[in-house]
Amino acid sequence: MIFTSINFDKPGKQQGFLQVPYSHNLGGWANVMIPLTVVSAGKGPTVLILGGNHGDEYQGQIAAMNLARELTPDQVKGRIILIPSLNFPAARAATRLSPLDGMNLNRSFPGDAEGPVTGQIAHYLRTQLFPISDVVIDIHSGGRSMEFVPCAHMHLVPDREQRARMFGAMLAWGTDFAFLYADIAGTGLLPVEAENQGKLVVTTELGGGEAIPASVHRIARSGLKNVLIHVGALKGREQTRASQGKPATILTQALNREDYLLAPESGVFEVCVDLGALVKSGQVVGFIHHLERPDRAPEAIVAKSAGYLITMRAPCLTQQGDCVAVIAKKVTPQQVLKA
Ligand SMILES: [Zn+2]
Repeated sequence: MIFTSINFDKPGKQQGFLQVPYSHNLGGWANVMIPLTVVSAGKGPTVLILGGNHGDEYQGQIAAMNLARELTPDQVKGRIILIPSLNFPAARAATRLSPLDGMNLNRSFPGDAEGPVTGQIAHYLRTQLFPISDVVIDIHSGGRSMEFVPCAHMHLVPDREQRARMFGAMLAWGTDFAFLYADIAGTGLLPVEAENQGKLVVTTELGGGEAIPASVHRIARSGLKNVLIHVGALKGREQTRASQGKPATILTQALNREDYLLAPESGVFEVCVDLGALVKSGQVVGFIHHLERPDRAPEAIVAKSAGYLITMRAPCLTQQGDCVAVIAKKVTPQQVLKA
């Protein structure tokens, strides 16, 4: 049901929209218009760059908008498709979920061609854009709910050859930390669908919260360009951390449920460890305070494993069951590639 005026087979640069039918009270024949840029030239891979899978994560949206404006066909080898604000209604509303149908795009796969707007977007990606792509880059941050150490991350996909390609591209982002994660909160994720189609999938968590430091925008911009060079879609010389005089990326993983610390009760969260710091098993990483009973001792949040505090809850106000901290242990490249 989604229409676009873009011809994906045409060389050169095109700017257009994905048009998703959305009939509502004040617009019977209305469309949701999702901006889309395609830059195509000669032989090379097709790379799909996605920002705003969650609408309140603007790091990737800004990096993709900048790149979409700047890119010219003479810089490209193959085809680069950019959708800066994939869940466009959510991006306009600064929300994680779509305000039109309440759906989380990153839990909506395989999608539904005749379903609500979010389901239609997922279906279009699965059936139209993923099949023509070699590389899928899905740029996330913690949004309004979490603050991450800026990192590239990946799933431990079962296919070792695919895993090795994803591992190389993850490191090409050049972040201080890389993070192997597990899906503890549901199915239907965009990267999983792309992985299942055999794509080289690159994902990130570039900070979070509502104020984005300039340093994080720099990581988003430089990492995205370096990954494009790494996969052979953009001309230029690949930068490594070593060539920039930086120490190697710290590889971490949180694959067990106990690594994800949830609030045992509602209250106000106080973190007491710096983001990115090493913690020991049994160490207190934060407290839940009781607004109505400040005379009661706060509830301690205790690390159940040793590792780095890779992400923490961004808002202080916390509901029972919210994830307040994730502890990721250090691993070696051998453990990642062979596990
Ligand atoms: Zn996200």
